[in-house]
Amino acid sequence: KGPRRHRLIEAHAVAQEFYAKFLGSPDALAGRQFLDQRGFDQAAALQFGIGFAPRDGEALWRHLRDHKFTLDEVVAAGLVAVGRSPYDKFRGRLLWPIREASGETIGFGARRIFDDDKIEAKYLNTAETPIYKKSQVLYGIDLARREIGRTSQAVVVEGYTDVMACHLSGVGTAVATCGTAFGDDHARVLRRFLSDHEEFRGEVIFTFDGDAAGQKAALKTFAGDQRFVSQTYVAVAPEGMDPCDLRVKQGDEAVRELIATRKPLYRFVLTNIVGKYDLDRADGRVDALREGARLVSSIRDKSKVDAFARELAGMVGVDPDQAREEVRRAAARGQ
Ligand code: ATP
Ligand code: MN
Ligand code: MN
Ligand code: MN
Repeated sequence: KGPRRHRLIEAHAVAQEFYAKFLGSPDALAGRQFLDQRGFDQAAALQFGIGFAPRDGEALWRHLRDHKFTLDEVVAAGLVAVGRSPYDKFRGRLLWPIREASGETIGFGARRIFDDDKIEAKYLNTAETPIYKKSQVLYGIDLARREIGRTSQAVVVEGYTDVMACHLSGVGTAVATCGTAFGDDHARVLRRFLSDHEEFRGEVIFTFDGDAAGQKAALKTFAGDQRFVSQTYVAVAPEGMDPCDLRVKQGDEAVRELIATRKPLYRFVLTNIVGKYDLDRADGRVDALREGARLVSSIRDKSKVDAFARELAGMVGVDPDQAREEVRRAAARGQ
């Protein structure tokens, strides 16, 4: 067995403080400029504990060693790697501490800042460690948990900057997955805060970048966990913007408005399906109806099926009874 859990947490606390302090240094100017361009002031950086990793490849390791951490401990924590000699995992990057619901830092999200580092990935996250499981981690959960419980609503955004933008705009229920798609484990974590009942209650609102990757992510989410279907909503900002872009260009109110004007996910997906077909043609309408019906029939919340069938009929431009019949057929086929 490796080093004890609390040592890994302590190492993260020391690292977070080290990085946050370094953000104020002359070498971190580019990091501060990035934050400024994204509309984040010093108070925001402080609230989210943002830091900067020196480009010098062993500054953190030396600091942790001075604080009596062993190489075993800091390697197990995912903060230091060993090549020919120990070196810091994050170098020349802006860092977001990723915290447990309790507020303890368990990992970092890191953005490339320097242009000459372009061969490296834009974002880098802590790898799997005994305290960091990316399938369960939700960035911002420490700040959002109370508000999620109070409002029975959770907003899932794509990135660290989006979580910040939401919270600073007054959407205090925002969290993000960290470099991975939203999955069943994330859903379980949210459910814990959304409801104190066994039964899932509340709304989960996904905001995807309006770009192609964002749209694809929305469709994939739908395929992933249908338990959510009638409580799942989508909010897509115009012109490929994410909530951070939206706040910079249009302000806090626009971010709140984006969330307030969410659409049910099934409607978003149905619109996408129907949009693939030429509804001016009879065979286009038949195919749109058939594929849409397959989706509607797969919805687990049977009390919603009729309303969705009617909606499908409206989109395709056919009689509701025709859509109901198609849904019944799809159900009989068992898809
Ligand atoms: P930017 O800082 O350029 O505005 P962003 O925060 O909008 O970027 P996206 O490119 O939209 O980021 O990606 C959203 C999220 O997906 C990021 O916050 C990060 O968690 C994750 N991500 C993006 N690119 C990568 C990558 N190359 N490797 C790992 N995770 C990534
Ligand atoms: Mn994107
Ligand atoms: Mn984005
Ligand atoms: Mn962005």
